[in-house]
Order: sequence, then C-alpha cells, then structure tokens
Amino acid sequence: MIKFLDLKKINDHYQTIFEEKFHRFIETGQYILGPEVKHFEKNYAGYCQTKYCIGTGNGLDAIRLIFEAYKLMGKLQAGDEVLVPANTYIASILGILHAGLIPVLVEPKLTTYNLDPAHLIEKITTKTKAILAVHLYGLISDWDELKKIAQQNRLLLIEDAAQAHGANWKGKKTGNLGDAAAFSFYPTKNLGALGDAGAVTTNSTALAKLINVLRNYGQKEKYDSQYIGINSRLDEIQAAFLTVKLNDLDKNNLKRMEHAQLYHDKIDNPKISKPELWTDGRHVYHQYVIRTKQREALREYLMKNGVQTLIHYPTPPHRQAALKNYTDGHFPVTDKISREILSLPIHEKLTQEEIGYIIEKINRF
Ligand SMILES: *Cc1c(COP(=O)(O)O)cnc(C)c1O
Repeated sequence: MIKFLDLKKINDHYQTIFEEKFHRFIETGQYILGPEVKHFEKNYAGYCQTKYCIGTGNGLDAIRLIFEAYKLMGKLQAGDEVLVPANTYIASILGILHAGLIPVLVEPKLTTYNLDPAHLIEKITTKTKAILAVHLYGLISDWDELKKIAQQNRLLLIEDAAQAHGANWKGKKTGNLGDAAAFSFYPTKNLGALGDAGAVTTNSTALAKLINVLRNYGQKEKYDSQYIGINSRLDEIQAAFLTVKLNDLDKNNLKRMEHAQLYHDKIDNPKISKPELWTDGRHVYHQYVIRTKQREALREYLMKNGVQTLIHYPTPPHRQAALKNYTDGHFPVTDKISREILSLPIHEKLTQEEIGYIIEKINRF
C-alpha cells in the first residue's frame, strides 16, 4: 500500500544521528530550555532571516502567545477582531480565542484555498485589529495584496506558517513576511519533530522578549512572574532533533515540488480539478489538494487500489460545535471546498514509480 505519509520511513533516515543527539542530551542533564533549544532558535531565526525565534510547546501556543504579547504591548485589546480564513485548521481559530480575541471567518478563494482579499475587505470593521494569514497547504498567496490591506487599515499581519516552513515570497521566507509568525513542528509538518513542538519568529525585539517570558509562566526572573504566562516551552530533545532535520528542509521541500510537478503534468482526468502549480518557492506543498464532485467514490477507488488519501479538512470550523457562537454560518466556498477536496500523498520519501502509479490510477477513474 502507498501510505499517505510514512513518518517512520522519514525519521528512520536519521536514526543514528538522533541516537547520538540523545546520548549527548542525557550527558548534559539539562532537560528544559537548555543549549539545544537556544541552538535551534538561533538556527531557525537564521533560516527564516528573522532577528528572533522563540521555541514553544506547539503551534497552537505559538499563535496564542503572539496575540497575548500584543495585548500586553497595548496593540490589541480583549474583544478585538482577528480575520482568519474560514477553511483553516481549527488551531488557527483556537489560538485567537484562547488569547481573548474574536475570530472573524473569511471565505477563501477556490483556486488558492487561501484568504480572498475581496472577502477580507468586506469583513473589516472598526473592531478589526489583525489578520491571521494561514499559508494553507504550504502556499503563500496574494501576499502583496494582504500587506497592502493590512497597512491601509492599520492591522497587524500575522502568519500562521504551520504548513509552510521554507516557502518564500519573492525571496523572503515565511516567518519573515509579517509582524510575527507562528510555526508548528508537529510530526506531520514539512519540518516535523518526534513529538509536539512549535515556535514564533519575529523581527520585533519587544514582542520576542515578551513571548520569551510568557512561554515560561511570565517569569522574567525565576519564581517571580511579571505576567500571567503559560507553560509552553520547546522541549530540549525535540529541539535537538529539529536542528538535525532543518538541514534537509530545503531538499525535502524541493522533492515535494517535484512530486507536485508530476501530478500537475500528468493527471489528466476531466473529473479532477488540480491546484495551480508554483515552482518559484511560494508553495512547499505541505499538501497536494485536488477537487472532485465524486470525492468519496475517488477516495474509495484509490483505497481499493492501495493508495491512501486524506481530507484536510472534512468538517469546516464553522460547522464544529465548539465554534457555534462565533460564526454566522454562511460560507458557501468553504462548504464546497470541504465537500470536494482530497489530499494525495506527497511526502519526500515517495518514489517516482509510486507517484506514477497514483497518477495512472487517477486517470483511469
Ligand atoms: C498544525 C497546525 C497548527 C497547530 O499546530 P500544533 O503544533 O498541532 O498545535 C496551527 N495551524 C495550522 C494551519 C496547522 O496546520
């Protein structure tokens, strides 16, 4: 069977070096906020070309901490509205809510699965103070447009870059495109740890300093909390693993782009809509997401033929009970997307033969 994602195969590649890292970790006896976290933060900031990177426990907390810090800086207040795509993963929206802000869902474009600037403008009110732009499936879309809207309306522009490590817009990497960015290193992401992990990147000294403190109980000095912080520290051993895997991120993203190119060139079935192909680096193909009106049939057919696929995501946030008080419920584009999308295998360990097989089966559907 061709698995959708083979994490064991991906991480087996690093077994020897992970074991070395683990031995060294045991030797140092420093388990929390030790040298490996510092080292990774420095490396990842360097990679993103930002001044700062602050490791967090996961991506959700990275989003939450950005908003909490802006509140402490006086740039946001409880009840302010944050624009966010309606078809994102639930964590984007929960991060806003946990910080005491109000998520305002915005319809995406069908062609990019990303925020639609026209719809974004319609949703701006006097209470709107920020945009959480999600590079969904690995694509940075309409960035110049989003930046212009943010500037004209004095909105903070924050990246949810959890699916787009290493993507770039005109040479500038994710993490360095807005006021601040949240990353997740959940195992399935393009840069994935072997457990939970996340980070914030920014060029703002004030923001970086605050998040550095907020992730550790708000303690500037040990046992003396200045703010109502949380416990969300990047784990030392995960930081060590991530430092190793960061070296291969560009190479692995290129592999994903090659796979996307093959799908793009060779899938030739009128029942299938393919996403646009981007080979300039703006898309790192965290997911390769096709659309079809016969999604369930295609999925079953591929499964019978030994190809595992997934749906990102089957129930849009506005139809989930947790958010019932936060939406007006009318998102036809988002509903259409969630009914028709299917994510094909795209990870870096897939072979050309496997991709060829998947394409052949899809074309015969
Ligand atoms: C994975 C993900 C998150 C959350 O990351 P966790 O590390 O699982 O908390 C947030 N936003 C998006 C778009 C994601 O894909």
